[in-house]
Amino acid sequence: MNPRLGGLRFPVEHSRGRRYPEPPHPYRNAFQRDRDRIVHARAFRRLEDKTQVFGAGTSDHFRNRLTHTIEVAQIARTVAAALGLDEDLTEALALAHDIGHPPFAHAGEEELDRQMSRFGERFDHNLHALRIVESFEQRYAGFPGLNLTFEVREGIAKHSRDFGPGEDPVLDEYLPGLRPPLEAQIIDLADEIAYNTADLDDGRSARFFEVEEVARAVPEFAALRDAADERFPNAPVRIRFNEALRALIDMLVTGLIEGTREAAIAAGVRDYEDVRRYPERLARLTAPAASATSALKCFLRERVYTSKPVAAERVTSTAMIAGLFAWYLDSPERLPETYREQAGRVPVHRLICDYIAGMTDGYLRRTWEQAQRA
Ligand code: MG
Repeated sequence: MNPRLGGLRFPVEHSRGRRYPEPPHPYRNAFQRDRDRIVHARAFRRLEDKTQVFGAGTSDHFRNRLTHTIEVAQIARTVAAALGLDEDLTEALALAHDIGHPPFAHAGEEELDRQMSRFGERFDHNLHALRIVESFEQRYAGFPGLNLTFEVREGIAKHSRDFGPGEDPVLDEYLPGLRPPLEAQIIDLADEIAYNTADLDDGRSARFFEVEEVARAVPEFAALRDAADERFPNAPVRIRFNEALRALIDMLVTGLIEGTREAAIAAGVRDYEDVRRYPERLARLTAPAASATSALKCFLRERVYTSKPVAAERVTSTAMIAGLFAWYLDSPERLPETYREQAGRVPVHRLICDYIAGMTDGYLRRTWEQAQRA
């Protein structure tokens, strides 16, 4: 049985290319250039001051959205390499996967969506990411946005879900009804592995729960914890937890590699075109990894995401976003000039949404404080 899936790799030379054709680079291929453009984008740097789960200021050790992104890239690259996929395309997609995230994590996304629904519209961070790379990033003389290859834009559009023809006119150019290449399919699951294990780590550091409670709720973790305890009986609790946690990451990543390999073999796909046409996504976890993941999610929901301190932060950040949205809606001339000058062409609520979505947590907080003084 073929241990690698080299045949399923998306060959960079088959790329549908860029919206604005550019001459090739002497030693970086198209996906490597896309990765580099993402790293140099402002929206990428702003991830540093965007909350993952725990707000900035809670601790110097917790993840923010930038360090989370680096962890996703590390996991996704490992999986891509083990499966013989294109590591550059995978890395570009991993680095871009959260650039459309608004300030204040999911609370921010939900509140912007709620604000937009009053106007019969939606806020979706994947679509927002597409708008960032297509137009908001203005750094090059020859074209708007980053002029990324089709496959990277498609991967952003299909980060967490596929769509059919006509569902959204913006998405119609990204092969509706077809699956993205495996390089793009593995990102969503690498993201999940990264945040579930990171939130477990940060949640324990924040003393939201004891190691024993994780072991009771997640049997797969209990087995790894027992193994770590047996192997390092004299190590401090924190170090033994860490050993169990790294074993858990390893188990989940291996589960993604094996699960995807088994699914691809069972489906009989021979190349990326078959992957595209297959009726469902082939990137998946093995059954044990999937069961560990669902137990872990359940535990984190109960003990971290809905915990009092995190819930209280949600209330505060939701109120700030709603307040700021209303403040700009009240007097759109408060928007920066680059937004005001689009007012004739773009509905005001969309401009406000775009502006707020691009803010870091810190900038939003400072703007809200100014708004209240004004
Ligand atoms: Mg993410």
